[in-house]
Amino acid sequence: MAITSDSSQPSLDLRAHVDFACLEDDCRAAIGFNLMQLEKSKGAVACPVCRRSYHFDLDFLDKLRRLRNLIFAIREAGEILGSVNVAVQTMTHEVKVPYNLLLTRMNTVITLEIGGRKVDFNFRIEPLNDGKIS
Ligand SMILES: [Zn+2]
Repeated sequence: MAITSDSSQPSLDLRAHVDFACLEDDCRAAIGFNLMQLEKSKGAVACPVCRRSYHFDLDFLDKLRRLRNLIFAIREAGEILGSVNVAVQTMTHEVKVPYNLLLTRMNTVITLEIGGRKVDFNFRIEPLNDGKIS
């Protein structure tokens, strides 16, 4: 199945993968989804183990989409970012962190409150053509 992105997107062969731990205390299975699939299913996803269903609102989908766009833009700018540093001021001195290290190597985590509990969503960008046919 071809996954198409809207025409404003850079045509990079990347996909946004998100996972989080199931909220059922006796389950805690990893629930993973592809952002584009989630948009198609209108924010609905189910635990593969206990079948608990989750429904994410448009606001959360929009946050994920903006994060994906940001990461796409960073990937695209990767070459020029190699020589850019971010200065981080600490109490005693300034630390310079290379931009591309800061933004492309770090795992990105979004924390969202569901039913009064904070849930961490791990956000990864992966190559679309990783040899698997999905
Ligand atoms: Zn579960």
